[in-house]
Order: sequence, then structure tokens, then C-alpha cells
Amino acid sequence: MGKKRILSGMRPTGRLHLGHYFGALQNYVRLQDEYDCFFMIADWHALTSEWQDTSQIPENTRELGIDWLSVGLDPQRCTMFVQSAVKQHAELSLILGMFTPVPWLERCPTYKEQIEQIQNRDLSNIGFLNYPVLQAADITIYDAVAVPIGEDQVPHLEMCREMVRRVNFIYGQVLVEPQPILSPAPRLLGIDGRKMSKSYGNAIYLSDPPDEVSRKAKLMVTDPARVRRQDPGNPDVCSVYAYQKLVSTDKLDWIETGCRTASIGCMDCKGLLIERLNALLDPIRGRRRELEANPRIVDRVLAEGNHRAREAAEATMKRVRKALHLFEE
Ligand code: SF4
Repeated sequence: MGKKRILSGMRPTGRLHLGHYFGALQNYVRLQDEYDCFFMIADWHALTSEWQDTSQIPENTRELGIDWLSVGLDPQRCTMFVQSAVKQHAELSLILGMFTPVPWLERCPTYKEQIEQIQNRDLSNIGFLNYPVLQAADITIYDAVAVPIGEDQVPHLEMCREMVRRVNFIYGQVLVEPQPILSPAPRLLGIDGRKMSKSYGNAIYLSDPPDEVSRKAKLMVTDPARVRRQDPGNPDVCSVYAYQKLVSTDKLDWIETGCRTASIGCMDCKGLLIERLNALLDPIRGRRRELEANPRIVDRVLAEGNHRAREAAEATMKRVRKALHLFEE
């Protein structure tokens, strides 16, 4: 093989939407050619916030597996696995915790933000504080040279790099320091103009049927200054245009000019968008239908991935235990 290893993960918290697709999945699919990719379903990370009710996690785990396969992650070319099936992550997380000052974790922007914003859940537990340490274990246990992530995860990766430097400074070249691979796509907004998120109810899902995509697209907010059909608009401030830049690249002149001169209406523009989104989603829906009809496929893909991941993780742990003078039989 000789390809360099990368790892990325997602928490199994529900069906994936277009924000995930353009922000991460499209990138995952492309990276399969270039790298030895490990894609992890981070069910332990889901636990950090869902510990009061874990009943949805198994279903969401399989659902995420289906989403991944249906967008084109190919188990022949990548390793898809479940975090909790590879216990070595917990061992390395415990060890990395020794190299992580508590104030680093308390200062982490994602941590501070969530503690302030999320009122309906109790997040005052060590597991939630420890989130970046577990994430660092996920990455370093596979000797990943890089990690495809969104902007929001950069502080976590930075912390991971700090942990690696500390370990290596004391014990020699034990762990690999990973680089970020930032997604090239800009962040997409939901149909109400806020960040696309399940909790806002403003997302277009990969599993939405065509009429649902059409209904939601028609609700999307456009340039707020374009009130009437004859008012000229500005695509730069329109969230529909952000989508068009991804799916209608051959029609951008028509949209730009049409919008600025009011020779097209927002409904014309959205009509094209709906057509393009459905063309994009159609094959994904088809594969999803097949996978839903044969649940054993996902189960088998994950079981094989878990097996490969365990072998890779155990090899790293042997090296780590030895370097840190830990007991081995
Ligand atoms: Fe947005 Fe298209 Fe309407 Fe212009 S025509 S405001 S780009 S939806």
C-alpha cells in the first residue's frame, strides 16, 4: 500500500444533512484515493453529552454507517469502524490524560461554549471535559499523519499536537504529530439562514425524499433586500447562492447576472437548485434503499473495520506501553 494514514470521526447523533455532505463527506470520499483512511463512528464521544439516555446511540451508529456507505465511502478502500469496539482508545486516552494539564481542557473554546450554551443537559462530568483527550487518542493510536476536520475542531487538534509533543519530548519519538486537513467547502446555512443544525430544525437531510428537498428549498431565505420579483438582488448575501456555488457551477453567470438585473426570480433560481440537489441525492438515496433493505451489509462492514482497527491500534499500544515502561506480559 504505502499510503499515508489519516483518521476522521463523527459522533452518531442522527441522520446526516447537506452541511455534513459539503463540509466533510465529499472530502472523505475524495481522500480515499490519496490516503489510507480510517473513518470512525465516535460513540464514546456521543456518550459525553448523551449519557443520561443512550438508547438512540446503537440506531444512530448504524444510521451513520448507512449514510457513509451511501455517499460513497468504500470499505474496499477505507476502514470504517466503531470507536467503542476498539478498547485501546480508552487505554491511550487514560495515558494521554497524564500529559494534559486540566487548564488546557478548561480553556478549550468548544468546551467553554457548550458549558455556557447548553442548558438542558448536565455537562459537568469528567468525560465531557476529557473530550479532547479521547479525541487525541483516536488520532494518535493510528499514527495518523493528518485529520480531515472542520474549523470548529481545530482547537482539539491543536491540543492533540501539544500532547504528542509532550510525550515525545520525554520518551522519544513515540507518537505521530498530526496535521489538519481543512474542508475546502464553506459552511452552509440552514433554510432559515442560521447554521445548519439538527437542533434548529433547518437542515436538508441526505435521506430527504425529492418533494421534501423541494419544499425546504422553497422556504430558504434569500437576499432579504429582494422583496419583490422586480427588485435586483445580491448573490453574495444570499444563502441559496452558497449552494449554487457547489452544485450549479456551470450556471453561475446566469444566476449572478439574472439576480443582479432581476431578469430571473428567486423561484427560477431555486428551481435550478432543487433540480441539482435532487440529481446529487438520487444515487445516494438509491444506495441507502439497498442498505436499508439489507442491514447485514453495514453490520459486516463495521465488523471488518473494527477488526482492522483493533490490529492497528494494538500495534501502536505495544509501542506506547514499551516506551512508557508499562507492564506487558
Ligand atoms: Fe438568491 Fe438566487 Fe434569489 Fe439571487 S435569485 S437572491 S441568488 S435565490
